[in-house]
Amino acid sequence: MDEVLRLLLGGEVVSGAQISERLGITRAAVWKRVEQLRAAGYDVQAVGRRGYRLAACPDALDAPLIERGLRTAWAGRPTLFDRRVDSTNLWARRLAAQGAQHGTLVVADEQTAGRGRRGRMWTSPPDEGVFMTLLLRPKAHPSQVAQLTLLTALAVAEAIEDVCGAQAQIKWPNDVVVGGKKTCGILLEMGADESQVDFVAAGVGVNVHASPPDLSDMATCLDAACGRRVLRAPVVCAFMARFEARYDAFARGEDWMTAYRARSVTLGRRVRVMGVDETFEGIAQDVDASGALVVQTQDGPRTVLAGDVSVRGVMGYV
Ligand code: ATP
Repeated sequence: MDEVLRLLLGGEVVSGAQISERLGITRAAVWKRVEQLRAAGYDVQAVGRRGYRLAACPDALDAPLIERGLRTAWAGRPTLFDRRVDSTNLWARRLAAQGAQHGTLVVADEQTAGRGRRGRMWTSPPDEGVFMTLLLRPKAHPSQVAQLTLLTALAVAEAIEDVCGAQAQIKWPNDVVVGGKKTCGILLEMGADESQVDFVAAGVGVNVHASPPDLSDMATCLDAACGRRVLRAPVVCAFMARFEARYDAFARGEDWMTAYRARSVTLGRRVRVMGVDETFEGIAQDVDASGALVVQTQDGPRTVLAGDVSVRGVMGYV
C-alpha cells in the first residue's frame, strides 16, 4: 500500500499499467492496494481510462505522508509506521538492538502499553494522538542524556506552536502544556555503558484529538487548545524539523537552554517537589546547565534531578 501511495502522492494521474510496471506487481494487485487505500480513507479517484488520482488524504500517519512533509537532513530518515504497537519506545529499542541508524523514526496510531516515567501508563487510544519515538546515537556521556529530555520538550513545544499557533510552555522537566494543561508526555530511555551512550529512544506522545477524560483538570489535546481540528502528520513533521535544529545546535555545543528557560511555566513559581522519600516546597529559581531544577527552600537552595521527582504548582498542576 505504501508504494502505491508514494506514487499517487506525486499529484499526477498515474495509470494502473504504470503502477504495475514501476512496482513489478500485477494489475490485480494494483487494484487491491488502491482498494486498501480507499478503505483507509484516501480519496483515490478513477480518472476515465487514464488511471488514478489522489484527491484527498485522511488524517493518517502512514510513512509516505510523513516523508512528504519532512524538511530534515536526518531526523525521520527512515520513518516506519505501524497501526498498533505495544510501545513505540519498545519498538525503537528492538530496532536499536538490530543496528538501526541515528534518525530512525517509528510512529504508531495506537499503543497497547504506552508508558510514562517510572512505570506509569500513557493513555494511547487509536486515531486520537501521535505516538512516536526517534532513535538517536549521540556521541555523548550518559550524564548528558537528561539534557536531551529537556531539549525534546523544547522541540515539541516549538512544533506545537508551528502547527496550531497556540502558545506552548514547558513544565519542568518535560511536560508540554498549552493553557496550563498537559498535551504531551515524553519518555527518554537509553542503552549505554559507563562512559558512552549506545542509543537514546526519545519517545513522545501528543494528545491531538482527545485527552483522558478522567484527567480533564490537568490534560488537554491540541484540538481543544487550538479550537480547530489539527492534522497529525504535520505535527510529526514539525517536531522532526524543530528537533533536528535543536539537536544539531546541542551537538555543536551551542546554547539552547535560554530558549528552554523562556518557555518554562515552572520558573519563578512556588512548587511542590515530590520524591520517593520526601516532599518539599520552594520557589523554582533556575534550570542549571545540566538540566537540573534549582529550588529555593526555607533551608537554602536545593537541586533536583529530572527523573527523580514530580513537580507540581502548589495551586494546581503547573
Ligand atoms: P508529572 O511530572 O506531571 O508527575 P510525569 O512526567 O512523571 O508527570 P509522565 O511519565 O509524562 O508523567 O506521564 C505519566 C502520567 O501522565 C500518568 O501518571 C497520568 O497521570 C498522565 N497521563 C497518562 N496518559 C496521559 C495522556 N494521554 N495525556 C495527559 N496525561 C496523561
